[in-house]
Amino acid sequence: MRMDPHRGRAAGGRGRGLGGGFRILVVLAFLAYGGCYYLSNRTQDPYTGETVLIDSSIGPEQERALGLQAYEQILEQEPPLPRSDPAAQQVERIAARLIDKVDEVTAEIAAAHGMEAPTHWKQFEWEVNVIPSDQANAFCLPGGKMAVYTGLFPVAQSEDAMAVVMGHEIAHALLRHGAQRMSQQKLAQIGQMAGAAGGLDPQQQQMVMAAMGYGYLLPYARTHETQADEVGLMLAAAACYDPNAAIGLWERMSASGGDAPPEFASTHPNPGTRIQTLQSLMPRAMEYREKYCRQ
Ligand SMILES: [Zn+2]
Repeated sequence: MRMDPHRGRAAGGRGRGLGGGFRILVVLAFLAYGGCYYLSNRTQDPYTGETVLIDSSIGPEQERALGLQAYEQILEQEPPLPRSDPAAQQVERIAARLIDKVDEVTAEIAAAHGMEAPTHWKQFEWEVNVIPSDQANAFCLPGGKMAVYTGLFPVAQSEDAMAVVMGHEIAHALLRHGAQRMSQQKLAQIGQMAGAAGGLDPQQQQMVMAAMGYGYLLPYARTHETQADEVGLMLAAAACYDPNAAIGLWERMSASGGDAPPEFASTHPNPGTRIQTLQSLMPRAMEYREKYCRQ
């Protein structure tokens, strides 16, 4: 006896013709595929020592090509300032100093986790542009293509704070967060297929995806933010910038951002938590500054 209250509304649903046993087999096959996908694409991240999911078919060249394609589209829609503009020159100078320290900082962080330094970033083709916009934002795409929006200048207020933001963005690219997100989405899709094979209707599937977003993908996104904060701070400190600028920066960021959404629904960590974490990282950042800053 089935007690499914939606049975009458199934309106000749796809799964109806399938025997229950067959349907379970299909679901199990998808789940097994998902499990295999996860197990065969796990890798240890040299920046954090943690096990992460990166699809082994996403190589550095593919990442770089995807990043470049996105970058060209963005610059076409939002033309950047000319290179001769003082803002563009300042940002280029900061980027050059940060990039110069990637090798040493990467090696030191990897060694702290007992791992060999990653080399994928050596294929990056670094470039930075300043885009006129009210947004207080910046990004670094996989492959090293960066942009800073002019709206960030009044919030950053200093080169040190600007270096903290740019270090954070560079860290996202170094940590291959883009490739990790693509791999997680693929895993979520496999889960969705299993749900569809199991006879969930589109609305139920959507609810499962939303739950997965909250329970799985969003916490990942927040972890990525915290990791980028940490690696970016070390990079800025090693490049002779004052890492303490990060505190005031995130205070101003949260003030300019209006009402911050509750942490569980946000890809960004709660500003208070973020500042606390940054403060706890400051002694280590100062060590990086002493060790690598040679002016
Ligand atoms: Zn970020």
